Amino acid sequence: MPATAELERMLRGASLRVTRPRIAVLAAVYEHPHADTHSIIGLAREDLPEVSQQTVYDVLGALTDTGLVRRIQPPGSVARYEARVGDNHHHAVCRSCGAISDVDCAVGSAPCLTASDDHGYALDEAEVIYWGLCPGCSTARSSDQATL
Ligand SMILES: [Zn+2]
Ligand SMILES: [Zn+2]
Repeated sequence: MPATAELERMLRGASLRVTRPRIAVLAAVYEHPHADTHSIIGLAREDLPEVSQQTVYDVLGALTDTGLVRRIQPPGSVARYEARVGDNHHHAVCRSCGAISDVDCAVGSAPCLTASDDHGYALDEAEVIYWGLCPGCSTARSSDQATL
């Protein structure tokens, strides 16, 4: 978790003015990877009780546009945000409870950008989602079956 001074430096580096809502939201995304907007509003309000929902939406938009934060949205899920950016990592998503975990690129750094055929697109991101059951849900499921 970066110190406030570090968060301020990151905002300035992205040409964003340092504001308390931006610091609060960026800190919340760092502390809670893959949090959704609703949780981020709650977390930001722990630091800044008066911050409005619209402000948090606007800040998330600005942080995403400048690349400080990455927005992911697995099909069937609401948008989630994370501060681990630039490494093109992937996600494992639980079909049952919606838990999300980071998965590094299977073969080193961002090789998944090398599409077999790029169709002339200038590609800058590849998104892979591994679907399945998280450990908690697969344990629950196998003990269900044991009692059948
Ligand atoms: Zn699960
Ligand atoms: Zn992630």
